[in-house]
Amino acid sequence: MQKVLEEALEIGKQYIEYGNCASYIPELARVDKNNLGVCIITKSVDRYTAGDTKKRFTIQSISKVISLAFALERLGHEKVFEKMSMEPSGDAFDSLLKLDMASNKPFNPMINAGALATIGYLVADFTFEDMLEYARRVCMDKNIVMDETVYESEMSHCARNRAIAYLLQSKGILEHDVEETLKLYTKMCSLSVTAESLANLGLVLASGGRHPETGVRLMDAEAVRLVKSIMLTCGMYDGSGEFAVRVGIPSKSGVGGGILAVVEKRMGIGIYGPALDEKGNSIAGQKMLEYLSKTLNLHMFASEL
Ligand code: GLN
Repeated sequence: MQKVLEEALEIGKQYIEYGNCASYIPELARVDKNNLGVCIITKSVDRYTAGDTKKRFTIQSISKVISLAFALERLGHEKVFEKMSMEPSGDAFDSLLKLDMASNKPFNPMINAGALATIGYLVADFTFEDMLEYARRVCMDKNIVMDETVYESEMSHCARNRAIAYLLQSKGILEHDVEETLKLYTKMCSLSVTAESLANLGLVLASGGRHPETGVRLMDAEAVRLVKSIMLTCGMYDGSGEFAVRVGIPSKSGVGGGILAVVEKRMGIGIYGPALDEKGNSIAGQKMLEYLSKTLNLHMFASEL
């Protein structure tokens, strides 16, 4: 396994030059795009790492997985999906076109419109500290904090998310304070994680929401099933279809360069590689996952060896 991980890292490195760090959040543009790391934690809690797996970076859109699970547990499925669909949008993660023209509901909770709606349902009754505590628990990483610098940087460059949020309000989807919703959403995007914390979360999800060692339930089983299904269809935005064919592992990316991947009943994978492709997904990260999927036979529809 260790050898395969190191090979994956070498393959990933070859693609870094074709990607770039996110630039629409100035603080993310300053990150060294050559960072690259991958961590696998298996069901038997064996941990394998290669590259930069302890470096902290912001979770960005991967927080959508955490916020969705939190909302499903606290508010229930009916409330969360009352005014939101669960269909891939086929559009960029920050698009507001279809939300305005083709539907009055966000397409799914993995794009910004859907994640802002999810946060909007929570903002009146839950604090950032409640959600931070949940994030630390499900990632089994008590060192997760909010990266203030990235938060401030995004808050002063979030015209597009602000536009989406006000559009949601105009459609009666955001019922509480729009600015507070935007702040809570951005705080969740600014959580600092490592590839190892993402692998931990991946393993918890792969284990149906239970702590891999103690068996203690950390996440609701039904929420976990739903979250994994939506990761498969929508987790890589408008790259989700091709990723499902090539890699076949429910995953979620973030513009900080992270990818969370869940190999059902087998392992969690966490990736850090901030050079992104044009869709906002880690370019080397996707190549590493493709290699791991092929070499370790991890595709969810892989034939028996
Ligand atoms: N905070 C980012 C945003 O709202 C998250 C987007 C992403 O990771 N794709 O634009």
